[in-house]
Amino acid sequence: MVQTVHGRTCASCTLCCKVLAIPEVPTPRDAWCGNCAVGKGCKVYEQRPEPCRTFHCGYLIWDAVPDHWFPARARIVIVSELGFRINFYVDASQPGRWREKPWYDDIKALAIRGIADGRQVLVTAGARVFAIFPERDVDLGSVAPDEAVVTGRRPDGSWGAAKVPASDPRLAQLGGGLSLGGLIPLQ
Ligand code: SF4
Ligand code: SF4
Repeated sequence: MVQTVHGRTCASCTLCCKVLAIPEVPTPRDAWCGNCAVGKGCKVYEQRPEPCRTFHCGYLIWDAVPDHWFPARARIVIVSELGFRINFYVDASQPGRWREKPWYDDIKALAIRGIADGRQVLVTAGARVFAIFPERDVDLGSVAPDEAVVTGRRPDGSWGAAKVPASDPRLAQLGGGLSLGGLIPLQ
């Protein structure tokens, strides 16, 4: 069972029921799930799909995340993905929210620490995906379901990001079914 940060609950949030796509729920990402009583909870709580039962956002489980990240206030949901990525999903109705203080400063600080640990730090704001690096942000535009986001060092030592087909053989270097991308050397 996942240990949540003492004193933190979903309370009146429900934002993950909008910003995330859940295959078992026929509602697209960035639209409220049809089962959601917005600001109250899940109308099918006892029968909710397995991904909904097991999901915990970063605010709930990481005590290093400050209180101002309560998703209902921040309008951003922090998600750990695939074991190597931290993705900040922004409410599409406020797509510029992540650039505001104090959230942007936290995202940049996490990019510094995350990249040192071999992690990818992304912001997903509506249809656009941004790769976050200590010194700059890279706007990747929309990322198709059959594309992967890769980040890595360029030959000159700078950090870069790119979209590649999920079938790109370089992804095989990453091992472990990381077909959605990861950190690899960029050309
Ligand atoms: S985004 Fe986090 S706090 Fe909000 S409802 Fe989902 S799991 Fe709970
Ligand atoms: S089924 Fe319930 S918990 Fe799952 S996304 Fe919909 S409203 Fe949220």
